[in-house]
Amino acid sequence: MKLQCQVEVVNRLHLNLNVKPNTKYLKSTLALGKEPKNDREYFILHFSSVNKKGTKYNVKGIKKAFVKCLSEGKVTLRFEEPPHDLCIKSNEPELKKFMKLLQSCITGDTKNVKLGELCSLGVVKEKMPTKLVILNRSEYPTSGLPRSLEYLYVNGIKLCNFRREILSLNNLRLLDLSDNEIEKLPLELGRLPNLSELYLANNNLGSKSTVDWKWLFGPRLIANLRLLDLSGNKLKELPKSIWKLQNLVSLKVNNNALTRLPAALGRISSLRYLTVSQNHLQALPCSLMQCRLEYIDLSCNLFNVETNSLVPEKHSHWDLYVTSLLHIASKAVMKQKIYYASNIIPWTLVEFLDNANLCVCGRPVLNDKFYVIKEYELKDFFRIVVFNNNRNCSVKFECYFCSPKCISIK
Ligand SMILES: [Zn+2]
Repeated sequence: MKLQCQVEVVNRLHLNLNVKPNTKYLKSTLALGKEPKNDREYFILHFSSVNKKGTKYNVKGIKKAFVKCLSEGKVTLRFEEPPHDLCIKSNEPELKKFMKLLQSCITGDTKNVKLGELCSLGVVKEKMPTKLVILNRSEYPTSGLPRSLEYLYVNGIKLCNFRREILSLNNLRLLDLSDNEIEKLPLELGRLPNLSELYLANNNLGSKSTVDWKWLFGPRLIANLRLLDLSGNKLKELPKSIWKLQNLVSLKVNNNALTRLPAALGRISSLRYLTVSQNHLQALPCSLMQCRLEYIDLSCNLFNVETNSLVPEKHSHWDLYVTSLLHIASKAVMKQKIYYASNIIPWTLVEFLDNANLCVCGRPVLNDKFYVIKEYELKDFFRIVVFNNNRNCSVKFECYFCSPKCISIK
């Protein structure tokens, strides 16, 4: 049987996640029947103008049928899986006939049902989409994003707020929200279990004076993230604890307002591609010498500008001999690569450890006042370098030293 009706599909999962329902009644057809090669199970197939392929529901999955308003031509069918409520409006006699037939299918009492009344549904291939590209607001699916998505691109639609329904896409590997107007991201983004590539270029993440980076250090993101694109976000600095992204291979931060890179950036041993063009950098942290970067883009920065802001403080060699217990303990934590966070140790210690530099020899240095500015040839450290002036391919590094011996070999 085919019922011509109006249907609103409510995804209960979105209600749980506080996603504003973006649904309305749509002119639809509900077909009740069974597949040609499957005699035992009955299905409802829902077609509408925006869902021409149809969604198939097993009648066994009906958790509850709300029939109080049947005499007004309204019923709601609540399905267990997928977690949808189908709110149906139709003319009353047709709807009653449909519900009676549905009841027979649910109870299995189909002896009196004329076979002709049941539709042969054909085998609907349940091909769940894994990729979705949205380049226009009107392309955003009204019934919600398919939960099977692995690749989601939402570009250039002036999105101001992160859509919380994305947080339920557990299969998502790649999320591209470039060219929107997003200012902040929810903490829960860091818990998406499979996300490994995140493109956030040309948004407004740095528009506030302090940027909340908590989302970036969620437990799953620090374990899985391999590519992060934060280009064009007006960022003045990157988070000091960026070293926690221990599987990051590619970092893009072009076209921001960065004056320094985090001292601990070079502690990401997996990092291979770094692009920081169009910023205000005057020097690089020497920890980067410890990374085996395949590619670095440093063009359009301030490396060649002579400024006074980069004068290191006066120091004596004694600073290296006399260290506190805190320094010694911190060096041990870093050397053993022991994980730390503010829920384990006081945040002042976290800050202290996050500020740690690496000596030119690769050992940790916890005194950030003691450094020397020195120019190094980029080609000595990085395989492919993109820089303004190819003939003079050397830039200043802020070099730190762990011992008088390292100073002497500088
Ligand atoms: Zn050293």
